[in-house]
Amino acid sequence: MRVGIAGGGPAGLTFAWRARRLDPTIDVRIVERDRADATYGWGVVFSDTALSFVRDVAPELHAAITAGQIRHESMRIVHRGTEVMLPNNAFLRMARIDLLRVLRRECERLGVAIEYGRRVEALDEFGDCDLVVVADGANSAIRTRLAAHFDPTLDVRPNWLAWYGTTQAFDPLSLVFRPCADGLLIAHAYRYSPTHSTFLVECDPSTYAAAGFDRMDADASLRYCERVFAEDLAGHPLLSNRSDWFRYTIVSNRRWSWGRVVLLGNALRTGHPSVGSGTRLAMQDAIALHQAVAESPGDMPRALAAFERRRRPGSDTLQAAAVRSTRWYETVRERLDLDPVSFAVDYLTRTGHVTHEDIRARDPALAAAFDALHPPAGEPRP
Ligand SMILES: Cc1cc2nc3c(=O)[nH]c(=O)nc-3n(C[C@H](O)[C@H](O)[C@H](O)COP(=O)(O)OP(=O)(O)OC[C@H]3O[C@@H](n4cnc5c(N)ncnc54)[C@H](O)[C@@H]3O)c2cc1C
Repeated sequence: MRVGIAGGGPAGLTFAWRARRLDPTIDVRIVERDRADATYGWGVVFSDTALSFVRDVAPELHAAITAGQIRHESMRIVHRGTEVMLPNNAFLRMARIDLLRVLRRECERLGVAIEYGRRVEALDEFGDCDLVVVADGANSAIRTRLAAHFDPTLDVRPNWLAWYGTTQAFDPLSLVFRPCADGLLIAHAYRYSPTHSTFLVECDPSTYAAAGFDRMDADASLRYCERVFAEDLAGHPLLSNRSDWFRYTIVSNRRWSWGRVVLLGNALRTGHPSVGSGTRLAMQDAIALHQAVAESPGDMPRALAAFERRRRPGSDTLQAAAVRSTRWYETVRERLDLDPVSFAVDYLTRTGHVTHEDIRARDPALAAAFDALHPPAGEPRP
């Protein structure tokens, strides 16, 4: 069997690794647009259980991926200058480039051919392949060209994001809400290496316009954000890595495959950084796709239909949560008058996946503080 893959991100690499690992006779080649040492972004974060599926199917890959990861048990929210700690929210963090390096090294060890620095323009170059995996990310140009077959929906969210790094150590993962003269800036910050933290800045369209980010160059935007978060950065600089402002697009597709061509990872559908599961989903997709292909040898349409049948329900659920989470950030200025404890509880319950009962079990002190502020009807407020 021959497999051609457009895009050497977590989705394409995990599929290639899995296919070659279980059947060394499969010919797998990847074409990746960027150079081997180039990566967009800084660190990525996973919930503590997010990579357990990799451990279940591939303990050695899991060990290699998690070797350098940083684990923290809690997160913190800073609202109105007050910090609320949220224990029992464990996250693992690592540099995106380290994840890619491990996956690329393991693929090459198994004989996957990876060609760097070339963009796939048309799928003709995979004409000899039994399976073509389109894993070229959220802005997939190939999906756009084949839109008549996949019928994608691109939901461009209104908020603006800039993905910076910093040398300030954000332990634990921090969500910082800083009002400023032009509106509100939000930072999602966490340390992912001994020396660096991710510092993702978010703002709504009215803050973006009032601050004039649309008219500033990249350096001026970075300096503006440094000023607003001066207290949090404590003298450390923000760092840029193609950190231009962008709006996040929630991608979904009515059809996941066309003949022997299948979408995978972010090309197929995106979550949102605020629910932090994109990389996990991309890797889970890859493992599920391989399983479906292995179960239906010689019958690609059947295999791809099975892949979609198995993955679509979970994917739809996560996307619905991602949209609810996105909306919470988009409308957060309506909640800025909440006290810090009520604000933190509102944040935790934003997608509907965490209930007040869950908070009671996970963090009795926070639940008690919330109950004291919101006594049931009839009971006196403290
Ligand atoms: C600001 C931000 C923060 C995030 N934070 C997290 C996080 O904390 N945790 C998490 O799990 N996820 C996070 N994500 C999401 C995560 O980055 C993606 O979900 C994940 O990378 C998807 O993997 P992928 O392989 O599908 O796509 P990508 O990682 O986008 O990889 C696609 C690859 O295809 C290549 N490519 C593109 N076009 C072509 C072409 N025509 N030909 C050949 N190659 C091509 C690209 O160079 C790229 O290497 C974040 C995303 C953003 C934007």
